[in-house]
Amino acid sequence: MADETTNDIYENKYKITIGLEIHVELLTESKMFCSCSTKFGEKENSQVCPVCVGLPGSLPVFNYKTLELGIKTALALNCQIPSECVFVRKSYFYPDLPKNFQISQYNQPLAINGYLNINNKKTPLRRIHLEEDTGKLIHSEHNENISLVDFNRAGVPLMEIVTEPGISSPQEAEAFLLELKKILQYIEVSDCNMEEGSLRCDANISVNFYDSKELGTKTEIKNMNSFKSVRKALQFESVRQMHLLETNKKVIQETRLWDETNQTTESMRTKEEAHDYRYFPEPDLLPIKIPQDIVEKISLQIGEIPAQKQKRFLDQYNLSEYNISVLTSEKKLADYFEETVSFYKEPEIVSNWIQTVLLGILKERNISIKICPISSKNFAELIELVNSKKITATSGKEVLTEMLDTGKSAIEIVNEKHLIQVQDEKTIRQWVKEVITEYPKAVKDYWDAIDAQNNVQASNISNFLKGMVMKKSKGKADILIVAKILMEELDNVRAKTRQTR
Ligand code: ADP
Ligand code: ZN
Ligand code: MG
Repeated sequence: MADETTNDIYENKYKITIGLEIHVELLTESKMFCSCSTKFGEKENSQVCPVCVGLPGSLPVFNYKTLELGIKTALALNCQIPSECVFVRKSYFYPDLPKNFQISQYNQPLAINGYLNINNKKTPLRRIHLEEDTGKLIHSEHNENISLVDFNRAGVPLMEIVTEPGISSPQEAEAFLLELKKILQYIEVSDCNMEEGSLRCDANISVNFYDSKELGTKTEIKNMNSFKSVRKALQFESVRQMHLLETNKKVIQETRLWDETNQTTESMRTKEEAHDYRYFPEPDLLPIKIPQDIVEKISLQIGEIPAQKQKRFLDQYNLSEYNISVLTSEKKLADYFEETVSFYKEPEIVSNWIQTVLLGILKERNISIKICPISSKNFAELIELVNSKKITATSGKEVLTEMLDTGKSAIEIVNEKHLIQVQDEKTIRQWVKEVITEYPKAVKDYWDAIDAQNNVQASNISNFLKGMVMKKSKGKADILIVAKILMEELDNVRAKTRQTR
């Protein structure tokens, strides 16, 4: 029932309201309150200590790197940063966090307010806070009564970003997430790798009649593992809620799980209230002071966020908006483009080479631009070789592949493989003359075709002869010069036959 057509029927009657809660794992080497490693994918329970498994008597020590990353995010998202934030204990039964409370933040979070621009609309943010991640339950495949727990993730620094209920469609929610991810990757706060769980999103949604001033009762959806699933879950849920209202039933405030296989949401539990958590200040950690000068210092390190970079690219390089959106889709790609342009000052040509050749080859080999082994200087050199006609475009692609495989520079490969384009007219004329002697019949047929005004035939024959010259040159002759000299020599043959007649 969650198809978009059903949605359209209700479109004019109901409005959708969405608020997102996004958890992001911060890019730190060590955990939030101990020195255990945060590396993903290591052996279960190999990255644990008394602090992160909450043994009695252990004391947390705050990792200040997480504060820096949080402040960076708050600034990039236009938030206010109060001069102090406070850690609290959020008590709950956590099977994956043995101390049964999570160190989190509550009424004094790291940052408040703020907004993110999506399609020229400011989506308001409510807060950003820091907290520790929990461990991970692994449900046994062999016995459904058994669950194992891996504490490697317990205590990994997490940042929660909460929006206001200000998103008005599933598509907008997806666009929001894509932009947020781009920003967080740009400012190097998180790798936002959804497969590894470093970005997770819970979505709250309610519907109500268009003319209603209040928001409807919301449900919270969990368990989506891609941005597309977020959109689909929200689409499903919006229609489910509209159906309820249509039939005079009530939406129950609850948490629902997205079922990827059936593409539906299922009720998980009715929502707990804040007072269920018994928040109270963490006695083992002092309030964290955030001096203004530190915030200013960090703001200088942020650099451009995607929207700013896009705008600058538009002003600085004479490129289409489409090209700019591709080039700025990833910071590393934008950097690579700019570095290459600093060596070869033709933005349009560099942009073409990146998009049509380089990205293609990298994709074939599943290599990310982040670890592209071809330096921008070498790449620029290659473009220069082709553009100044020292090598042909075909050789250019061959050389690029070789650069990727061997790490050699373009010049080295061009020299080794003798790929320099031959433009010397004397050499080319010699090849042309040889071909003309070797294919007298073709030459005669060419002139017969010209006399019979059979242009198609004539051009076929001249292409054949050109091909033979290219073959003699091992693909290195400048095709335009070959064409010119071939015409001259064919004329010479004709002139000679006339003289002897
Ligand atoms: P709770 O008390 O259930 O945690 P909050 O008010 O703290 O609810 O909000 C949690 C998230 O739900 C926020 O992202 C917020 O924007 C969103 N939200 C709150 N009320 C609604 C609503 N009526 N419809 C849609 N989203 C909502
Ligand atoms: Zn630890
Ligand atoms: Mg809440």
